[in-house]
Amino acid sequence: GMAACSSERETPAATTPAPGASSGAPAGDGALIGVAMPTRSLERWNNDGAHVESLLKEAGYEVSLQYADNKVEQQIQQLETMINQGAKVLVVASIDGTALSNVLETAAAAGIKVIAYDRLINGTDAVDYYATFDNYQVGQLQGKFIEEQLELATTTEKFNLEPFAGSPDDNNAKFFFSGAWDVLLPYVQDGKLVVPSGKDPKSNDEWTKIGIQGWESAKAQAEMDNRINSFYGDKKVDVVLSPNDSLALGIEQSLESNGYKPGGDWPIITGQDADKANVINMLADKQSMTVWKDTRTLGTQVAKMVDQILKGETVEVNDTTTYDNGKKVVPSFLLPPQVVTKDTVQKDLVDSGFYKASDIGL
Ligand code: BGC
Repeated sequence: GMAACSSERETPAATTPAPGASSGAPAGDGALIGVAMPTRSLERWNNDGAHVESLLKEAGYEVSLQYADNKVEQQIQQLETMINQGAKVLVVASIDGTALSNVLETAAAAGIKVIAYDRLINGTDAVDYYATFDNYQVGQLQGKFIEEQLELATTTEKFNLEPFAGSPDDNNAKFFFSGAWDVLLPYVQDGKLVVPSGKDPKSNDEWTKIGIQGWESAKAQAEMDNRINSFYGDKKVDVVLSPNDSLALGIEQSLESNGYKPGGDWPIITGQDADKANVINMLADKQSMTVWKDTRTLGTQVAKMVDQILKGETVEVNDTTTYDNGKKVVPSFLLPPQVVTKDTVQKDLVDSGFYKASDIGL
């Protein structure tokens, strides 16, 4: 399969300087870097993996890039193989952030450094660094977008809201939810936002009750169908808090099959990732915004971290207080997420080279 191909050794491009390397520093010297990604089923992880792999190869490293089909056991086996192959650094976007303690402790014992990629790894000392987007900020951008669109601060109207949250095993999901709910909960409490399904967490900690396991579109669609069928009658959904694009896609399919019309009674709906299908939906007035995380910048930062680790240089971080994994506060590098709407697709996503116009039907 594809994963097997990408782990084949290739001749390192030894003359290309490492990203961020000081001039004259030796290139990667062919050291093996293991890159463990969760799944190919979401567009972003394919881009993340390919980008990190190509940056590391350019810097002279060998790369084993593996995808685990969202199966925790498969990811653990892939990490074991990387350790046995003599990897020097593991870059891990975990599936279940609490399930990797044993395998990573084996890595630590072998002197292998571990970078948590995008998602924090919990409950172990054997994680050295974390690189991600500011996950709380992602949720804040979604919450504030809803607040502004509905003019919640000043309106006297009431709106029907349906909130969703991400996968309960993903440490990011609680940050996304808290960021949004810190903005929206006061409006639920004062009655401007009404949740007809009753699926509104009374505090941020209750978010797992509305979490969609595995971030699956189909599960989000079924949940939205259920809420519309059971709680709406002659009411209309005005706004949906969706933490990411894979959920938004399922919710949008549900709205469509329940007769909502883009440009008519279609609700405000949020997202995250700027996946192609969702950008296309934004252009068709089926999604109001997405929080774009330019994954190229994350890959670049991680390739730099790998290089700094292996050259014994100081590893650049910009947050040493937020990401407590239960065993330690993991030194982190947080990148800024940004809102993209229909009106900024061209400027943000096409002019920046993230997508070709033809990718998204422009
Ligand atoms: C990532 C999101 C992604 C989600 C589902 C999260 O950990 O930060 O970008 O949408 O996982 O894969």
